[in-house]
This record gives sequence, C-alpha cells and structure tokens, in this order.
Amino acid sequence: MFSSRFMPCLECGASVDRTGTGGHECAPERRAEFQMFGLREEVAQLEAGIHRYLTTAAGRFASWLAAREVRGQI
Ligand SMILES: [Zn+2]
Repeated sequence: MFSSRFMPCLECGASVDRTGTGGHECAPERRAEFQMFGLREEVAQLEAGIHRYLTTAAGRFASWLAAREVRGQI
C-alpha cells in the first residue's frame, strides 16, 4: 500500500497524482531546473575545481592550447 496519493516525480519534482489515469509528462523546463537544483553542489564544486586547475602549470598550458585551437591553429 502507498501512504500518499501524491508522489513527487523523480524526474522533475512535480507532485503527481498516482491515482490519475492520464499519466504524467515532465515539463522540459521544470525537469531541467529540478535536475540542476539537485546538481547544484556538484556544479559548484566543478567550477571551483576548474578554477583551481587553471592556476596550475598544466591548467595554464591547457587553456593556452585551447585558446590556440579556438583561434584556428597556425
Ligand atoms: Zn515529471
């Protein structure tokens, strides 16, 4: 038995009526926002990690190389 009639959708966080017959389709915007919210810690850490990496010698070289490639080689 389920204790609640409404359950949050695991994909988008919307409250879904489990007894409904229409089914549920995630709104793409809501789904993206919900998933970004769930990942906010990882996103923040990734950004910090990239900034840290770019201060290392290897990071400086990589960003120099990338900039060179973006400009279209020699
Ligand atoms: Zn959904």
